[in-house]
Amino acid sequence: MKIGLDMDGVVYDYVANLSNLIVADGGDPIPDKIGWFKPAELWPPYFDNPEKVFFDGDPLPGAVEGCAKLFELSDELWIITAARHEAGPYKLMWLEKHGIEYDDFVITGLDHSAEPKSAIKCDLYIDDGAHNIQELYNNTEADLIIFEQSWNKTREMWDLEWKSDRVNRARNWYEVVQIVEDLTGGE
Ligand SMILES: [Mg+2]
Repeated sequence: MKIGLDMDGVVYDYVANLSNLIVADGGDPIPDKIGWFKPAELWPPYFDNPEKVFFDGDPLPGAVEGCAKLFELSDELWIITAARHEAGPYKLMWLEKHGIEYDDFVITGLDHSAEPKSAIKCDLYIDDGAHNIQELYNNTEADLIIFEQSWNKTREMWDLEWKSDRVNRARNWYEVVQIVEDLTGGE
């Protein structure tokens, strides 16, 4: 099984890290339900410093161990991250810092209509972005795991899970690994 794994909001705790940076500067924390993409529009000055935004943050709980398990269970583990290209080197260094192994790393770009995640063919995608889940659902036959975050608890996402056997929700990394074990037969 080839797995396409999102990074921000699934492996890297992007919103918490950015929120901490803003609070350290005397600002208000990022409100719940703000998706991963809005901070770039709402707090643009921080993005002049990709090292702080994309390297200094922590993994989501269980992500490092979970990635190791996915690397073992999959035939190929691809990190597919939508980001500004200048973030690339910092993301690669962060993965190395945490000892996260993968087979390939792809940046799909900020303009999702030009370079959607479905362009990288996988058997399973794991993502927190409702827009990505919807795009992958529409344009692939793959299994999908919605990695639960406040911004994907939407009517559209619940509907998609309800109507489709290939859409699953994981509330944490323990559940991600459980679902992948079920899909791969644990091998
Ligand atoms: Mg994401």
